[in-house]
Amino acid sequence: MIPYGHQDIDEADIDAVVSVLRSDWLTQGPAVEGFETEMARYCNAPHAIAVCNGTAALHLACRALGLGPGDSLWTSPITFVASANSARFCGAKVDFVDIDPHTYNISVAALSDKLVRAEREHKLPRVVMPVHFAGQPCPMEEIRQLADRYGFAIIEDASHAVGSTYLGERIGSSRYADAVVFSFHPVKTMTTGEGGMVLTNRAEVAETVRLLRAHGISYRMRGTTDAQEGDWYYEQVDLGYNYRMSDIQAALGRRQLQRLDLFVRRRRELAKRYNALLADLPLVRPWQHPSGESAYHLYPIRLQLRRIGKTRREIFDAMRSAQVGVQVHYIPVPMQPYYRKLGFGPGLFPEAEHYYSEALSLPLYYGLSDSEQEQVVDVLRTAITR
Ligand SMILES: *Cc1c(COP(=O)(O)O)cnc(C)c1O
Repeated sequence: MIPYGHQDIDEADIDAVVSVLRSDWLTQGPAVEGFETEMARYCNAPHAIAVCNGTAALHLACRALGLGPGDSLWTSPITFVASANSARFCGAKVDFVDIDPHTYNISVAALSDKLVRAEREHKLPRVVMPVHFAGQPCPMEEIRQLADRYGFAIIEDASHAVGSTYLGERIGSSRYADAVVFSFHPVKTMTTGEGGMVLTNRAEVAETVRLLRAHGISYRMRGTTDAQEGDWYYEQVDLGYNYRMSDIQAALGRRQLQRLDLFVRRRRELAKRYNALLADLPLVRPWQHPSGESAYHLYPIRLQLRRIGKTRREIFDAMRSAQVGVQVHYIPVPMQPYYRKLGFGPGLFPEAEHYYSEALSLPLYYGLSDSEQEQVVDVLRTAITR
Protein backbone atom coordinates (compact mmCIF):
# COMPACT_ATOMS: atom_id res chain seq x y z
CA MET A 1 0.00 0.00 0.00
CA ILE A 2 1.24 3.49 -0.86
CA PRO A 3 0.16 5.43 2.26
CA TYR A 4 -1.18 9.01 2.12
CA GLY A 5 1.63 10.19 4.37
CA HIS A 6 4.80 8.74 5.85
CA GLN A 7 7.71 9.91 8.00
CA ASP A 8 11.29 9.81 6.74
CA ILE A 9 13.78 8.55 9.33
CA ASP A 10 17.46 8.27 8.41
CA GLU A 11 20.48 6.82 10.22
CA ALA A 12 21.46 10.20 11.69
CA ASP A 13 17.96 10.49 13.21
CA ILE A 14 18.35 7.05 14.78
CA ASP A 15 21.85 7.85 16.07
CA ALA A 16 20.60 11.06 17.66
CA VAL A 17 17.86 9.21 19.53
CA VAL A 18 20.23 6.45 20.62
CA SER A 19 22.72 8.96 22.00
CA VAL A 20 19.98 10.43 24.20
CA LEU A 21 19.18 6.93 25.44
CA ARG A 22 22.84 6.60 26.47
CA SER A 23 22.78 9.97 28.26
CA ASP A 24 21.54 11.05 31.68
CA TRP A 25 18.50 12.94 30.40
CA LEU A 26 15.52 11.08 29.01
CA THR A 27 12.75 13.53 29.88
CA GLN A 28 12.83 17.26 29.22
CA GLY A 29 16.46 18.37 29.22
CA PRO A 30 19.12 19.91 27.00
CA ALA A 31 17.80 18.42 23.74
CA VAL A 32 14.38 20.01 24.30
CA GLU A 33 16.01 23.37 24.95
CA GLY A 34 18.18 22.99 21.86
CA PHE A 35 15.18 22.04 19.72
CA GLU A 36 13.25 25.08 20.97
CA THR A 37 16.14 27.44 20.23
CA GLU A 38 16.68 26.01 16.75
CA MET A 39 12.99 26.07 15.82
CA ALA A 40 12.62 29.63 17.14
CA ARG A 41 15.56 30.66 14.95
CA TYR A 42 14.16 28.81 11.91
CA CYS A 43 10.80 30.58 12.24
CA ASN A 44 12.23 33.88 13.45
CA ALA A 45 10.01 33.58 16.54
CA PRO A 46 11.03 35.16 19.85
CA HIS A 47 9.79 32.20 21.94
CA ALA A 48 9.26 28.50 21.24
CA ILE A 49 8.03 25.97 23.78
CA ALA A 50 8.06 22.25 22.95
CA VAL A 51 5.32 20.01 24.32
CA CYS A 52 4.19 16.38 24.07
CA ASN A 53 1.86 16.82 21.06
CA GLY A 54 0.08 19.41 18.94
CA THR A 55 -3.19 19.02 20.83
CA ALA A 56 -1.46 19.87 24.12
CA ALA A 57 0.15 22.86 22.40
CA LEU A 58 -3.30 24.12 21.30
CA HIS A 59 -4.68 23.56 24.80
CA LEU A 60 -1.81 25.48 26.44
CA ALA A 61 -2.08 28.33 23.93
CA CYS A 62 -5.80 28.63 24.78
CA ARG A 63 -5.05 28.60 28.51
CA ALA A 64 -2.26 31.16 28.18
CA LEU A 65 -4.64 33.51 26.38
CA GLY A 66 -7.07 33.21 29.25
CA LEU A 67 -9.77 31.26 27.40
CA GLY A 68 -12.30 29.88 29.87
CA PRO A 69 -15.98 29.34 30.66
CA GLY A 70 -18.13 32.11 29.22
CA ASP A 71 -15.69 32.72 26.35
CA SER A 72 -15.86 31.42 22.83
CA LEU A 73 -13.32 30.35 20.24
CA TRP A 74 -14.03 30.30 16.52
CA THR A 75 -12.22 27.97 14.15
CA SER A 76 -12.57 26.27 10.79
CA PRO A 77 -14.98 23.38 10.25
CA ILE A 78 -12.40 21.79 7.93
CA THR A 79 -9.76 20.74 10.44
CA PHE A 80 -8.82 17.92 12.75
CA VAL A 81 -11.09 17.78 15.81
CA ALA A 82 -8.24 18.88 18.13
CA SER A 83 -8.50 22.52 16.97
CA ALA A 84 -12.02 22.86 18.35
CA ASN A 85 -11.48 20.50 21.27
CA SER A 86 -8.72 22.70 22.69
CA ALA A 87 -11.35 25.33 23.53
CA ARG A 88 -13.66 22.73 25.05
CA PHE A 89 -10.82 21.59 27.37
CA CYS A 90 -10.93 25.12 28.80
CA GLY A 91 -14.69 25.07 29.26
CA ALA A 92 -15.16 27.59 26.46
CA LYS A 93 -17.78 27.55 23.69
CA VAL A 94 -16.78 26.69 20.14
CA ASP A 95 -18.18 28.10 16.93
CA PHE A 96 -17.09 27.76 13.33
CA VAL A 97 -16.53 30.05 10.36
CA ASP A 98 -17.29 28.60 6.92
CA ILE A 99 -14.42 28.07 4.48
CA ASP A 100 -13.30 29.84 1.35
CA PRO A 101 -14.19 27.44 -1.49
CA HIS A 102 -10.81 27.97 -3.18
CA THR A 103 -8.31 27.82 -0.33
CA TYR A 104 -10.39 25.62 2.05
CA ASN A 105 -9.24 27.92 4.88
CA ILE A 106 -11.66 30.04 6.90
CA SER A 107 -13.21 32.70 4.71
CA VAL A 108 -12.34 36.25 5.72
CA ALA A 109 -15.66 37.46 4.30
CA ALA A 110 -17.58 34.91 6.39
CA LEU A 111 -15.51 35.81 9.46
CA SER A 112 -16.14 39.51 8.91
CA ASP A 113 -19.93 39.00 8.56
CA LYS A 114 -20.06 36.79 11.61
CA LEU A 115 -18.15 39.39 13.66
CA VAL A 116 -20.60 42.12 12.67
CA ARG A 117 -23.50 39.98 13.90
CA ALA A 118 -21.63 38.89 17.04
CA GLU A 119 -20.84 42.47 17.96
CA ARG A 120 -24.53 43.39 17.75
CA GLU A 121 -25.41 40.45 19.99
CA HIS A 122 -22.46 41.03 22.37
CA LYS A 123 -21.11 37.57 21.56
CA LEU A 124 -17.67 38.38 20.16
CA PRO A 125 -15.13 35.54 20.36
CA ARG A 126 -12.17 35.74 22.70
CA VAL A 127 -10.00 33.70 20.33
CA VAL A 128 -10.10 32.98 16.59
CA MET A 129 -8.08 29.96 15.49
CA PRO A 130 -7.32 29.96 11.76
CA VAL A 131 -6.03 26.60 10.49
CA HIS A 132 -3.51 26.60 7.63
CA PHE A 133 -5.24 23.68 5.96
CA ALA A 134 -2.98 21.33 3.97
CA GLY A 135 -0.15 23.84 4.54
CA GLN A 136 -1.78 26.75 2.69
CA PRO A 137 -1.40 29.88 4.81
CA CYS A 138 -4.55 31.74 5.87
CA PRO A 139 -4.79 35.47 4.99
CA MET A 140 -3.24 36.49 8.30
CA GLU A 141 -2.91 40.18 7.49
CA GLU A 142 -6.68 40.50 7.02
CA ILE A 143 -7.43 38.37 10.09
CA ARG A 144 -5.04 40.52 12.14
CA GLN A 145 -6.91 43.67 11.05
CA LEU A 146 -10.18 42.11 12.22
CA ALA A 147 -8.54 41.10 15.52
CA ASP A 148 -7.41 44.67 16.13
CA ARG A 149 -10.88 45.97 15.34
CA TYR A 150 -12.88 43.45 17.38
CA GLY A 151 -10.39 42.67 20.13
CA PHE A 152 -9.98 38.90 19.78
CA ALA A 153 -6.74 36.95 20.14
CA ILE A 154 -5.36 34.73 17.36
CA ILE A 155 -3.96 31.21 17.66
CA GLU A 156 -2.75 29.83 14.35
CA ASP A 157 -3.21 26.07 14.14
CA ALA A 158 -0.14 25.57 11.94
CA SER A 159 -0.03 21.79 12.41
CA HIS A 160 0.01 21.46 8.61
CA ALA A 161 2.22 24.46 7.92
CA VAL A 162 5.67 23.72 9.32
CA GLY A 163 7.85 25.06 6.49
CA SER A 164 5.10 27.10 4.78
CA THR A 165 5.63 30.79 4.12
CA TYR A 166 3.26 33.77 4.15
CA LEU A 167 4.23 37.10 2.56
CA GLY A 168 7.81 35.91 2.36
CA GLU A 169 8.10 34.89 6.03
CA ARG A 170 7.97 31.46 7.59
CA ILE A 171 4.78 30.44 9.37
CA GLY A 172 5.62 30.35 13.08
CA SER A 173 7.04 33.86 13.29
CA SER A 174 3.91 34.84 15.24
CA ARG A 175 3.91 38.25 13.52
CA TYR A 176 0.14 38.23 13.09
CA ALA A 177 -0.87 35.97 15.97
CA ASP A 178 -0.67 35.70 19.75
CA ALA A 179 0.48 32.10 19.40
CA VAL A 180 1.26 29.63 16.61
CA VAL A 181 1.05 25.88 17.09
CA PHE A 182 2.94 23.09 15.31
CA SER A 183 2.39 19.34 15.42
CA PHE A 184 5.18 16.82 14.86
CA HIS A 185 2.96 13.75 14.45
CA PRO A 186 4.56 11.32 11.95
CA VAL A 187 2.19 12.23 9.09
CA LYS A 188 3.12 15.91 9.38
CA THR A 189 5.99 17.48 7.46
CA MET A 190 8.60 16.69 10.14
CA THR A 191 8.24 14.44 13.17
CA THR A 192 9.28 13.80 16.75
CA GLY A 193 7.07 10.68 17.01
CA GLU A 194 4.53 12.58 19.08
CA GLY A 195 5.23 16.24 19.65
CA GLY A 196 4.10 19.80 19.35
CA MET A 197 5.24 23.36 19.88
CA VAL A 198 3.89 26.78 20.78
CA LEU A 199 5.63 29.76 19.18
CA THR A 200 4.85 33.29 20.28
CA ASN A 201 6.16 36.82 20.26
CA ARG A 202 4.52 37.57 23.61
CA ALA A 203 6.82 36.93 26.59
CA GLU A 204 3.93 36.51 29.05
CA VAL A 205 2.24 33.93 26.80
CA ALA A 206 5.52 32.00 26.59
CA GLU A 207 5.93 32.12 30.36
CA THR A 208 2.42 30.80 31.01
CA VAL A 209 2.83 28.01 28.45
CA ARG A 210 6.12 26.97 30.11
CA LEU A 211 4.50 27.02 33.52
CA LEU A 212 1.41 25.01 32.51
CA ARG A 213 3.50 22.50 30.53
CA ALA A 214 4.89 21.23 33.85
CA HIS A 215 2.12 21.16 36.46
CA GLY A 216 1.94 24.93 36.99
CA ILE A 217 5.06 24.59 39.12
CA SER A 218 7.50 27.45 39.41
CA TYR A 219 10.98 27.16 40.88
CA ARG A 220 11.11 30.87 41.49
CA MET A 221 9.85 32.05 44.83
CA ARG A 222 6.73 33.99 43.97
CA GLY A 223 4.42 33.72 46.94
CA THR A 224 5.13 34.57 50.55
CA THR A 225 7.88 32.19 51.55
CA ASP A 226 9.70 31.31 54.68
CA ALA A 227 13.36 32.31 54.90
CA GLN A 228 13.99 28.69 55.94
CA GLU A 229 13.11 27.36 52.48
CA GLY A 230 16.10 26.15 50.48
CA ASP A 231 17.03 24.86 47.04
CA TRP A 232 14.41 22.11 47.14
CA TYR A 233 11.68 24.70 47.15
CA TYR A 234 9.01 25.00 44.46
CA GLU A 235 5.55 26.44 44.25
CA GLN A 236 2.53 25.29 42.33
CA VAL A 237 1.04 28.61 41.27
CA ASP A 238 -1.57 27.41 38.75
CA LEU A 239 -3.28 24.18 37.70
CA GLY A 240 -0.99 22.82 35.00
CA TYR A 241 -0.38 19.51 33.23
CA ASN A 242 2.41 17.12 32.40
CA TYR A 243 2.70 18.12 28.74
CA ARG A 244 6.50 17.97 28.47
CA MET A 245 8.35 16.73 25.43
CA SER A 246 11.12 14.21 26.16
CA ASP A 247 14.73 14.62 25.08
CA ILE A 248 14.31 11.42 23.08
CA GLN A 249 11.68 13.15 20.95
CA ALA A 250 13.53 16.49 20.82
CA ALA A 251 16.74 14.82 19.58
CA LEU A 252 14.74 13.43 16.66
CA GLY A 253 13.14 16.84 16.11
CA ARG A 254 16.52 18.61 15.93
CA ARG A 255 17.71 16.22 13.24
CA GLN A 256 14.45 16.42 11.32
CA LEU A 257 14.58 20.23 11.43
CA GLN A 258 17.92 20.11 9.62
CA ARG A 259 16.20 18.29 6.75
CA LEU A 260 12.95 20.28 6.87
CA ASP A 261 13.78 22.44 3.85
CA LEU A 262 14.62 19.29 1.91
CA PHE A 263 11.29 17.70 2.93
CA VAL A 264 9.38 20.82 1.91
CA ARG A 265 11.21 21.17 -1.42
CA ARG A 266 10.31 17.59 -2.36
CA ARG A 267 6.68 18.03 -1.27
CA ARG A 268 6.38 21.14 -3.42
CA GLU A 269 7.98 19.36 -6.34
CA LEU A 270 5.54 16.44 -5.96
CA ALA A 271 2.60 18.87 -5.75
CA LYS A 272 3.76 20.55 -8.95
CA ARG A 273 4.05 17.15 -10.62
CA TYR A 274 0.51 16.23 -9.48
CA ASN A 275 -0.73 19.54 -10.89
CA ALA A 276 0.64 18.56 -14.30
CA LEU A 277 -0.27 14.87 -14.17
CA LEU A 278 -3.88 15.57 -13.16
CA ALA A 279 -4.53 18.50 -15.51
CA ASP A 280 -6.86 16.62 -17.87
CA LEU A 281 -8.97 14.87 -15.22
CA PRO A 282 -12.42 16.01 -13.99
CA LEU A 283 -11.22 17.30 -10.64
CA VAL A 284 -10.12 20.51 -8.97
CA ARG A 285 -6.47 20.69 -7.97
CA PRO A 286 -5.34 22.63 -4.88
CA TRP A 287 -5.13 26.34 -5.62
CA GLN A 288 -2.19 28.26 -4.21
CA HIS A 289 -3.08 31.72 -2.95
CA PRO A 290 -0.39 34.15 -4.22
CA SER A 291 0.33 35.55 -0.72
CA GLY A 292 1.78 32.28 0.52
CA GLU A 293 3.68 29.17 -0.35
CA SER A 294 2.32 25.91 1.03
CA ALA A 295 4.60 23.22 2.44
CA TYR A 296 1.96 20.74 1.14
CA HIS A 297 1.26 18.65 4.19
CA LEU A 298 -1.62 17.36 2.06
CA TYR A 299 -2.60 17.33 -1.59
CA PRO A 300 -6.42 17.50 -1.45
CA ILE A 301 -8.35 17.30 -4.70
CA ARG A 302 -12.07 17.89 -5.29
CA LEU A 303 -13.67 15.28 -7.51
CA GLN A 304 -16.21 16.63 -9.99
CA LEU A 305 -18.57 13.80 -9.23
CA ARG A 306 -21.37 14.83 -11.59
CA ARG A 307 -18.97 14.83 -14.55
CA ILE A 308 -17.42 11.58 -13.34
CA GLY A 309 -20.79 9.87 -12.77
CA LYS A 310 -19.56 8.00 -9.68
CA THR A 311 -19.58 8.50 -5.95
CA ARG A 312 -16.52 9.53 -3.94
CA ARG A 313 -16.94 6.27 -2.02
CA GLU A 314 -16.60 4.24 -5.25
CA ILE A 315 -13.42 6.08 -6.23
CA PHE A 316 -11.98 5.86 -2.70
CA ASP A 317 -12.69 2.12 -2.47
CA ALA A 318 -11.31 1.41 -5.96
CA MET A 319 -8.07 3.21 -5.11
CA ARG A 320 -7.71 1.49 -1.75
CA SER A 321 -8.28 -1.89 -3.46
CA ALA A 322 -5.48 -0.96 -5.87
CA GLN A 323 -3.16 -0.39 -2.89
CA VAL A 324 -3.26 3.40 -2.99
CA GLY A 325 -3.87 4.79 0.46
CA VAL A 326 -6.04 7.80 -0.27
CA GLN A 327 -7.66 9.59 2.66
CA VAL A 328 -10.33 12.23 3.28
CA HIS A 329 -9.49 15.44 5.17
CA TYR A 330 -11.75 16.22 6.97
CA ILE A 331 -15.26 15.31 8.01
CA PRO A 332 -16.45 18.80 9.04
CA VAL A 333 -16.00 19.04 12.80
CA PRO A 334 -19.56 20.39 13.37
CA MET A 335 -20.87 17.09 11.91
CA GLN A 336 -19.18 15.00 14.61
CA PRO A 337 -21.60 13.43 17.11
CA TYR A 338 -19.96 15.29 19.99
CA TYR A 339 -20.49 18.65 18.27
CA ARG A 340 -24.02 17.72 17.18
CA LYS A 341 -24.82 17.24 20.87
CA LEU A 342 -23.68 20.87 21.30
CA GLY A 343 -26.20 22.02 18.70
CA PHE A 344 -24.23 21.82 15.45
CA GLY A 345 -25.16 19.66 12.47
CA PRO A 346 -25.76 19.68 8.73
CA GLY A 347 -26.65 22.87 6.85
CA LEU A 348 -24.73 25.38 8.97
CA PHE A 349 -21.48 25.55 6.98
CA PRO A 350 -22.43 24.80 3.37
CA GLU A 351 -19.02 25.45 1.77
CA ALA A 352 -17.35 23.07 4.22
CA GLU A 353 -19.95 20.40 3.61
CA HIS A 354 -19.74 20.81 -0.15
CA TYR A 355 -15.94 20.56 -0.02
CA TYR A 356 -16.12 17.49 2.20
CA SER A 357 -18.56 15.70 -0.11
CA GLU A 358 -16.02 15.62 -2.96
CA ALA A 359 -12.63 15.79 -1.19
CA LEU A 360 -9.89 13.22 -1.56
CA SER A 361 -6.27 13.48 -0.35
CA LEU A 362 -3.70 11.84 -2.60
CA PRO A 363 -0.50 10.33 -1.18
CA LEU A 364 2.16 12.97 -0.58
CA TYR A 365 5.32 12.60 1.48
CA TYR A 366 9.05 13.11 1.15
CA GLY A 367 9.85 9.48 0.24
CA LEU A 368 7.17 9.14 -2.47
CA SER A 369 9.02 8.33 -5.68
CA ASP A 370 8.15 9.74 -9.10
CA SER A 371 7.08 6.30 -10.30
CA GLU A 372 4.90 5.68 -7.24
CA GLN A 373 3.28 9.04 -7.86
CA GLU A 374 2.62 8.10 -11.50
CA GLN A 375 1.09 4.86 -10.23
CA VAL A 376 -1.24 6.86 -7.96
CA VAL A 377 -2.35 8.97 -10.92
CA ASP A 378 -2.89 5.89 -13.12
CA VAL A 379 -5.00 4.25 -10.41
CA LEU A 380 -7.02 7.45 -9.97
CA ARG A 381 -7.51 7.78 -13.72
CA THR A 382 -8.77 4.20 -13.93
CA ALA A 383 -11.04 4.68 -10.91
CA ILE A 384 -12.57 7.78 -12.51
CA THR A 385 -12.92 6.57 -16.06
CA ARG A 386 -13.70 2.85 -15.78
C1 LIG B 1 -2.34 16.85 13.64
C2 LIG B 1 -3.22 18.00 13.95
C3 LIG B 1 -3.44 18.46 15.26
C4 LIG B 1 -3.03 17.72 16.48
O1 LIG B 1 -1.75 17.33 16.53
P1 LIG B 1 -1.26 16.10 17.43
O2 LIG B 1 0.20 16.34 17.46
O3 LIG B 1 -1.66 14.85 16.72
O4 LIG B 1 -1.91 16.23 18.77
C5 LIG B 1 -4.17 19.62 15.43
N1 LIG B 1 -4.69 20.29 14.39
C6 LIG B 1 -4.53 19.87 13.13
C7 LIG B 1 -5.12 20.66 12.02
C8 LIG B 1 -3.80 18.71 12.88
O5 LIG B 1 -3.68 18.27 11.61
